[in-house]
Amino acid sequence: MTSNVWQVFDLHESEDNNGNKIQSAICKLCNTSLVAGARNGINHLKRHMDECLAKHGPQDPKQQQLARPSGYGGKVCTFTYSQSKMRIGLAVYIASAELPFSLRS
Ligand SMILES: [Zn+2]
Repeated sequence: MTSNVWQVFDLHESEDNNGNKIQSAICKLCNTSLVAGARNGINHLKRHMDECLAKHGPQDPKQQQLARPSGYGGKVCTFTYSQSKMRIGLAVYIASAELPFSLRS
């Protein structure tokens, strides 16, 4: 189990009705269960990993995204998501809207 596919999959062992052990690989990103074990190889796991990372994995942080903000004349513009700018904007919104910092009562 030295392949990098095991960073995306968890190995799960169970038994069938005859008591035979069955190994399955469960994707951490989408919870899909695929057959695993030495007999089955890992090519199908690599294929799933590549497809699943493209769908669910982190995006390139420098890639711009399209937006059509209201009050912008209906024009399409681009922006780059920034976690730090989003954190500051959220803090300003919470403070200016006088929202509680905790939702627990
Ligand atoms: Zn997946």
